[in-house]
Amino acid sequence: MTEQINAFKMAQAQFDNVATMLNLDPQAAAMLRWPTREFRFQIPVKMDDGSIKVFFGYRVQHSDVRGPSKGGIRFHPSETLDTVRALAMWMTWKTAVADIPLGGGKGGVAVDSASLSINEQERLCRGWIQQIYLNIGPRQDVPAPDVGTNPRMMGWMMDEYSKLVGQYTPGVITGKPVGGGGSLGRTEATGFGVVYTIREAMKYLDVAPKNAVAAIQGFGNVAQYAAIEFIDMGGVVVCVSYWDRDDQKPYTVSRDEGVDPRFLQSITDVYGTIDKEKAQDSGYVIEDDEVWITKDVDVLIPSALEGQINAETVQTISERVRIVAEGANGPTTPEADEVFKQRSVFNIPDFLCNAGGVTVSYFEGVQNDMNFYWAAERFAMQLIAGAEFRLDKKNDVNSILHLGLGGRYVLMSTRYANLSIGLRAVMAYAPNLWSYSSVLRCIPDGDGSVCEEETSTTTETNVLQFGVELPIEVEYFFSDSFSIMLGAGAMAVFVPKAGAVLDPRGLGAVHKAEHKGIGIGTGAVFGAAAFNFYL
Ligand code: NAD
Repeated sequence: MTEQINAFKMAQAQFDNVATMLNLDPQAAAMLRWPTREFRFQIPVKMDDGSIKVFFGYRVQHSDVRGPSKGGIRFHPSETLDTVRALAMWMTWKTAVADIPLGGGKGGVAVDSASLSINEQERLCRGWIQQIYLNIGPRQDVPAPDVGTNPRMMGWMMDEYSKLVGQYTPGVITGKPVGGGGSLGRTEATGFGVVYTIREAMKYLDVAPKNAVAAIQGFGNVAQYAAIEFIDMGGVVVCVSYWDRDDQKPYTVSRDEGVDPRFLQSITDVYGTIDKEKAQDSGYVIEDDEVWITKDVDVLIPSALEGQINAETVQTISERVRIVAEGANGPTTPEADEVFKQRSVFNIPDFLCNAGGVTVSYFEGVQNDMNFYWAAERFAMQLIAGAEFRLDKKNDVNSILHLGLGGRYVLMSTRYANLSIGLRAVMAYAPNLWSYSSVLRCIPDGDGSVCEEETSTTTETNVLQFGVELPIEVEYFFSDSFSIMLGAGAMAVFVPKAGAVLDPRGLGAVHKAEHKGIGIGTGAVFGAAAFNFYL
């Protein structure tokens, strides 16, 4: 199923759709339709038996107009340049929608990690860095884990990069182990973030989280924490699924009264493969892979690979399904998107739904830059200026994601509404695209004043065409301190006495609706002060 779908064609089709809706200038569209830079390279690896095996590695930098490219490294046997291109493009929209000062990139190697010994994995990871280290870095492109890669691998990669450039550089990569430059909360971030967006969607749809039922595809990093948090929210998860390496096919692992993700974690390996015998011994039913999508549930959470909900499989989805929350990147094809629209299924698109991971990756990079690591409580501080202070009832990881994601965009949740927002954010940041201002609601005019009038109503009209209201006015402000703060880099600076926290993005783009408590002027003063202090 996955092999038949070209993810990049799919990503471009989504983009073309939005570009048309936005009446995007064709010249601007041409720049965003393809990645800025692409690398494909050989990685010769000495295997344990002494032989040399050549792997193919990729890195694609789709866009760096809003900041260094950002995106994971995937180790998967069916990795292709087109998959990496698609994932890189989606990262551009994701960082823009989450409004963190990063661009979009992605990388990978066509390999099944599980087929390598630990030593071979290490040599492959170090080899990947050796081939690309001149083109990545904290100010160029910052990779992270994805399918088939993990914190230990990120640690090896960071170490190799540091050796090659001659200085300790933890900020070259995120998703590192805690204690090795990693951030508290990164492991849970994506899955928890998925559930926060579901929670917000439920509020909008008036669906009670208590006893809501979900089916999840996958049981890797994203799926595990999505399952845990969904149950914590009061819901029930009736199944997860996984790829069985022995049988070379996926299975659905079900239990009518609900799965226990903590137990399943204890019988799952680092690649997200569940021990099916142990599962069966504990009362779980092992079913065929396609069963997960047919379950009679309120919420579907695809959290494995792209193209899983397509023209064919979408027909098997139960009438009861109200929400599809895309934990995975690109799980829904444009044909399935159409069916969701017709059936009024509320689709939370990947670049919003799973943005919790990159949000905390960004915080990891900020800590690396500061060479100062936040204690757990510190995450409860206001990291995005003006957000309501919230120390979450349960744990601090929740607080990070509340702040990083919140419910800010979820009500605008159709893929195209979100993609429009992401696109506009990319455009707003790109000096070389500023002349194409007709698509922006508000653009900087270079002297720090705020635009008041939108130049075109096309955007809103088109977004509303999907029956989605825009509850938050998205406006872009460029303050005088913009350049200063850009110079200060991505420092999230806490000013304890004032009880305020600066916008880590340097006030570059401010979402008015969220800046209840802290004025832009005040923020700018703190910004300048913090900049001087840190010099
Ligand atoms: P992972 O490698 O930890 O887990 C992948 C899971 O999917 C495993 O349980 C695997 O067995 C299962 N799987 C693979 N093929 C399958 C198939 N055909 N049917 C059913 N299950 C299958 O990966 P992950 O990090 O959890 O990433 C999952 C998805 O989420 C990917 O699309 C990734 O790009 C996306 N994502 C991940 C993060 C992150 O922080 N890890 C962030 C954003 C998006």
